Amino acid sequence: METIGHLIGGKPSQESSRTQDVFNPATGEVTKKVAIASKETVEEAIAAAQAAYPEWRNTPPMKRARIMFRYKTLLEENADRIGELVGGEHGKICHDAAGELQRGIENVEYACGAPELLKGEYSKNVGPSIDSWSEFQPLGVVAGITPFNFPAMVPLWMFPMAIVCGNTFVLKPSERDPSAALLLAELLHEAGLPAGVFNVVNGDKVAVDTLLEDKRVKAVSFVGSTPIAEYIYQTASKHGKRCQALGGAKNHAIVMPDADMDNVVSQLLGAAFGSSGERCMALSVAVTVGKAAGDALIEKMSAAMAPLKVGEYSDAKNDFGPVITKEHKDKVVGLITSAEEQGANVVVDGRQTVVKGYENGFFVGATLIDNVTPEMESYQQEIFGPVLQVVRVDTMEEAMQLINDHEYGNGTCIFTRDGEAARYFSDHIEVGMVGINVPLPVPVAYHSFGGWKRSLFGDLHAYGPDGVRFYTKRKTITQRWPSAGVREGKSFAFPS
Ligand code: NAD
Repeated sequence: METIGHLIGGKPSQESSRTQDVFNPATGEVTKKVAIASKETVEEAIAAAQAAYPEWRNTPPMKRARIMFRYKTLLEENADRIGELVGGEHGKICHDAAGELQRGIENVEYACGAPELLKGEYSKNVGPSIDSWSEFQPLGVVAGITPFNFPAMVPLWMFPMAIVCGNTFVLKPSERDPSAALLLAELLHEAGLPAGVFNVVNGDKVAVDTLLEDKRVKAVSFVGSTPIAEYIYQTASKHGKRCQALGGAKNHAIVMPDADMDNVVSQLLGAAFGSSGERCMALSVAVTVGKAAGDALIEKMSAAMAPLKVGEYSDAKNDFGPVITKEHKDKVVGLITSAEEQGANVVVDGRQTVVKGYENGFFVGATLIDNVTPEMESYQQEIFGPVLQVVRVDTMEEAMQLINDHEYGNGTCIFTRDGEAARYFSDHIEVGMVGINVPLPVPVAYHSFGGWKRSLFGDLHAYGPDGVRFYTKRKTITQRWPSAGVREGKSFAFPS
């Protein structure tokens, strides 16, 4: 059986004292093993990145960007190969995997603008014969730790920008679907990246802790669940590193009484059930304002859910695939059951879904739950499955209060035709990414991605302009070239 290894200093490595199973979630079978790196292997990757840094730091930004231009083309040419690895290990359907890659490629396109993005700021004559400028210097070796749910896109949020800014990089992808990251790395080397600039180590907590504690690593970007994000942020900060740690979510959509309900239903279908709900921007709670909106949503949504097709990744007619593991399926099913036990009404029930020919797959069918209340466990926790919960309220203020009171603040959306309501919502809602009649308001690559509250630990969001700032340090230089013969007298006053 194939063992997925690492890529260190431009060379494949298989080092592992331990391995872990990699499943095809559609069949439930173990299809590969992944090497779980020891501390020494991670240190080897850090050393390779450290050794490559001085030369890479001094490589002109335009030359670094040219590699990204070639990389973009290679990613496009290899989209099907990447999609197959993503589908076979994550389970998402081929059209969804293609969409994820496309959003990742947009970050490569943004990174191609590095020479422009790194130009810095300049002020002439801040004093007599004095000029001042700020430049943005790379940090050194930086690390990325990524989740299972976007095995191509989330790494692409990180390393292209970090690398064009002049840093070298160690990526620790999710051990549950590790193959796509290695192909991304291979293609980047094919595009001309020097060995050691980008390294991939597969592993678990041992690898992560090594990256967090090693003095040579200057910054850590993390995306994953909130408890781990908080741990990463605290540990990295304790070790003096810059850190951005993006966590979990519970994204609500407010459905106002004036919303176009057919549009709401068609938008919510993809936003709630796409990728089996395993998206940090999945819309998992619909908050309906007024009885009529609640009743209409339940009626139209249950009808629209009937023809949804769950199945295996390679059949583009399927709407979504399995969840990632058997344990995760049990968790999702358990949370649906807990909602039912606590008094909610399971209107469409995906718990017993079995896909013909894939009886051992980790499938959960699309599920709709009505009359959910904030005390319920299923409301408080991130389910991360194909489950849409409906909470009914009487006013928009109540709906907004629910969202503002929730511990997560990643994404949200309002469906309405009322511009004043939409403007009030976007102004006052305590959430980092807001949609107005847009259910998945994932910012494009030239904006930045990040939630509020316990959905993000750190100051700077991921990718886009914040990405440039995260992966660089500002240095401000003040310079005087006095004219010949001009000498300043002494002064003990603060320079002004
Ligand atoms: P996870 O937190 O279990 O794992 C993320 C990474 O952390 C993996 O690389 C994993 O190996 C590592 N890790 C896991 N446990 C660890 C530990 N105890 N110590 C150190 N490292 C550890 O997350 P996941 O299940 O892979 O991904 C799903 C989660 O990610 C969801 O909560 C989802 O909302 C979140 N997510 C957030 C965003 C965002 O942008 N906010 C994007 C995608 C996913």
